[in-house]
Amino acid sequence: MLNERMLDLGKRSSVIREIFEYGNKRRAEIGAENVFDFSLGNPSVPCPPAFNETLKQFLDTVPAESLHGYTSGPGDLAVRKAVAADISAKFGVDAPFDLVYMTCGAAASLCITLNALAEEGDEVIAFAPFFPEYRVFTETTPAKLVVVPCKSSDLQLDFDALEKAITPHTKALILNSPNNPSGVIVPEADVVRLAALLNEKQAAYGTDIFLIADEPYRPLVYTGEPVPYLPRYYDNTVVCYSFSKALSLPGERIGYIFVSPACKAARDVFAAVCGAGRALGYVCAPSLMQYAVARHLDDTADIHIYEKNRTMLYNGLCEIGYSVIKPDGAFYMFVRSPEPDAGAFCEKAKQYDLLLVPSDSFGMPGFVRIAYCVKPEMIERALPAFEKLFREYR
Ligand code: PLP
Repeated sequence: MLNERMLDLGKRSSVIREIFEYGNKRRAEIGAENVFDFSLGNPSVPCPPAFNETLKQFLDTVPAESLHGYTSGPGDLAVRKAVAADISAKFGVDAPFDLVYMTCGAAASLCITLNALAEEGDEVIAFAPFFPEYRVFTETTPAKLVVVPCKSSDLQLDFDALEKAITPHTKALILNSPNNPSGVIVPEADVVRLAALLNEKQAAYGTDIFLIADEPYRPLVYTGEPVPYLPRYYDNTVVCYSFSKALSLPGERIGYIFVSPACKAARDVFAAVCGAGRALGYVCAPSLMQYAVARHLDDTADIHIYEKNRTMLYNGLCEIGYSVIKPDGAFYMFVRSPEPDAGAFCEKAKQYDLLLVPSDSFGMPGFVRIAYCVKPEMIERALPAFEKLFREYR
């Protein structure tokens, strides 16, 4: 009677959401200040005040019928031109505006891109640990998700495993750097090596393999090193960008897709993106947000707070004795569970009202994810609870 897959997806909420809902219950019972909720990647810093000023200015000066009207399907022309100019200026690549598609955040960007590329029998590679929705998004296409684990020592790409996983059926790889859930950034040398491997495989199989750059965390970097921009290294690249995290606008649902002009048949890839956007109902991204982000392409929310949190949490957990993968970007930390079953560890953590996410749904068991996009005071108050929890394993 109903689409069974959709019914199942709708009934089964994500582990992260379940923990967040548990947090809501505990907040009501014992007070918000007593719950150390590290479950959700919801930015804790506000968007730049100038962004709100821009919104006010638009509301006061632009006639409502045009401000809230439909834009063209791939987005407002002036906005697409501004985004393309920004890509060119920031990354030194050719970025024609008519290969830019404005859309509703990285989730929509990924769904559209995967649907534009994938055909029956195709495989899409995701590197574990990965954003769990990759599986859901890929499974809305005819393709199958193939998981390639990163090296458990540092969560960087494992080229031996990758080489074995690429087949004549491989249509795309999703690379997310800075990474959710680990905060790891793929260094330039590995990007160069990845591009060489993909070029070699394309030549050997006579196929096209696309690299999907999932980039909602691009500006959130704490090392001072630039994050390699994938279209500079590999031709068949499609960038999925979102303003959710960098501008702290996750609820506004705004981002874009950029098809590199170096892609084989780039115009057709873009036409397929437009087709997938149409088929999935992601046309005309929210117009007010399109106009506003185009004015703030160089801005970010105050991400220094995340940097402060990262230092405090990383040092605090290491001093206690936890084994932590040091994150270079995003606002997540991946910590080794002191017992093999990360789910059991998270249950124990709940006794201290520490809400952590077990790593199984990220495709790599044995870790927990801590989302440190929280108020710094919460980290200060949570560290003694982390210590008590760790003592249970001594
Ligand atoms: N990709 C990754 C790696 C994410 O962490 C997220 C959100 O947390 C998304 C995509 C979806 O982002 P958006 O909120 O812009 O749709």
